Amino acid sequence: MGRTAAATRGEARAQQTQWRRPVRRCVFCAEKVAQVDYKDADRLSRFLSDRGKIRPRRQTGLCARHQRQLARAIKRARHLALLPFVVDYTHPA
Ligand SMILES: [Zn+2]
Repeated sequence: MGRTAAATRGEARAQQTQWRRPVRRCVFCAEKVAQVDYKDADRLSRFLSDRGKIRPRRQTGLCARHQRQLARAIKRARHLALLPFVVDYTHPA
């Protein structure tokens, strides 16, 4: 019994669809940021979704420490009205 064509194709497909972890480092660690700045709204806004929500760690690629700092910084910035709490498309400005 040799290998069937179907089995060979199956192996090939399994290799092609093998999920690879995207190589992304924490951008704040890369810049040796000790404390994420809540006043830097332009920078913080890059970590928000188009709806104004804070992006999860799997999307931001941040380390646990900086993701926590980022979340607090965004919440402070929202309180100071530097960032939106929600982006509402149904009521355009
Ligand atoms: Zn970090």
